[in-house]
Amino acid sequence: MPSNPTHEYDDLRMISPMTVSPMTSTGSLLEEAARIARHFARARLLPQARELERDGGGPQLIVLMRELATTLGLAELPAEVLANADFSGTLLYELTRVLPGFALSFGASLGLCGQSLLRRGTPDQQERWARSVLAFERIGCWALTEPEAGSDAFSLRTIARRVDGGFALSGEKSFITNAPIADVFVIFARIEGAPFDGQVRPFILERADAGLATGRPLDKMGMRASPTGSIYLDEARIPADRLLGDPEESGKRAAIETLLGERAGLSGMALGIIEESLQLATAYAKDRRQFGQPICTFQAVQLRLARMYAAQETVRALLERGRALVASGDASLAYFCAAKYTASTLATACALEAVQVLGGNGYTAEYRVEGLARDAKLLEIGGGTSDIQLLAVARELLKAGSS
Ligand SMILES: Cc1cc2nc3c(=O)[nH]c(=O)nc-3n(C[C@H](O)[C@H](O)[C@H](O)COP(=O)(O)OP(=O)(O)OC[C@H]3O[C@@H](n4cnc5c(N)ncnc54)[C@H](O)[C@@H]3O)c2cc1C
Repeated sequence: MPSNPTHEYDDLRMISPMTVSPMTSTGSLLEEAARIARHFARARLLPQARELERDGGGPQLIVLMRELATTLGLAELPAEVLANADFSGTLLYELTRVLPGFALSFGASLGLCGQSLLRRGTPDQQERWARSVLAFERIGCWALTEPEAGSDAFSLRTIARRVDGGFALSGEKSFITNAPIADVFVIFARIEGAPFDGQVRPFILERADAGLATGRPLDKMGMRASPTGSIYLDEARIPADRLLGDPEESGKRAAIETLLGERAGLSGMALGIIEESLQLATAYAKDRRQFGQPICTFQAVQLRLARMYAAQETVRALLERGRALVASGDASLAYFCAAKYTASTLATACALEAVQVLGGNGYTAEYRVEGLARDAKLLEIGGGTSDIQLLAVARELLKAGSS
């Protein structure tokens, strides 16, 4: 019997929006991080983008993620900066403009895995795992989805069985960003046995743990520079201190907090795709001549560019309002789901508009809009599909209406 498709949001009103808290006191640090990421993306990523896409990331992905981490000085940054979603969101946005797949992998290690370890972890767990993942000495991944638990994320079947001194995990995770290359895994499982029987909790696993294996990277439509794959757990034995954070604390709540941050991050990635699509399409339209004149002189092409501009300003405004709502303590689940839905839908539409402006060239991998269009589609699926975002919005609206 499938569980209630929106039950994952039941206790969201109880959740503090710290995952997306503003970094007001470190504004200049944010600007500096944006400048470094922008330069890195243009100077280092862009020349290797085709190769990274062709190789599904490959070893060069890890080399480049570490290079960026070193340039940003992530190992030295204070925990409150590393845990801040504005900080990771800024990096994601800058990297997405050049290669969304790289941004996805970087974000999964830094944001989904590293920030979860830092925010949820005990001091010992922060010391043993969070710092090295946040510094990209080790690559991280975050695994909730399973073959039978996608949109219905908390119907998961992976079991953590209590054994002498710890747990034995069995189950399968699917579609996990970085799984094929990860060193550290945050894995959600259902506890079997007292005192938390049936409860979902996050666990920390390492590549070397016996009983853990990962599958080959999936051959995907887009985000091809980011390796995605399955994790197989066959009685993977781990000590008790691998249960991430306070055992009393709801793992569902931990997952929802992370998903909320992910939705904000994906909206920022959408803006990156929209801005880049508009810029590339505008430059091309000014340059390309047909019927003896630049194609930008044709109103049909102008309308496309104008629609993309309208989308860009809409998503910028959505992100700014999101930051303001967080700052005033009024952030709501409905807002972030609506923003993610709108931003991701507009990103796909804009990238396809750009393909159209470039005509035949836009349909070839020689031109970057082709990759942006394929990558954009993932934003409508990852972190909860568009339909699931809308269902969450409707649920909140109806709750508000009935009170
Ligand atoms: C490239 C990539 C990277 C990913 N990275 C990660 C990761 O790092 N960690 C992780 O845990 N997961 C990850 N995911 C998984 C992602 O979150 C899921 O794919 C997503 O939540 C959708 O689940 P599903 O694929 O099982 O689709 P399904 O749940 O099977 O949905 C299929 C379709 O049915 C619709 N649908 C389902 N339920 C309803 C409903 N109640 N009402 C209306 N429509 C419905 C959906 O909207 C969708 O259109 C990744 C996925 C991809 C493709």
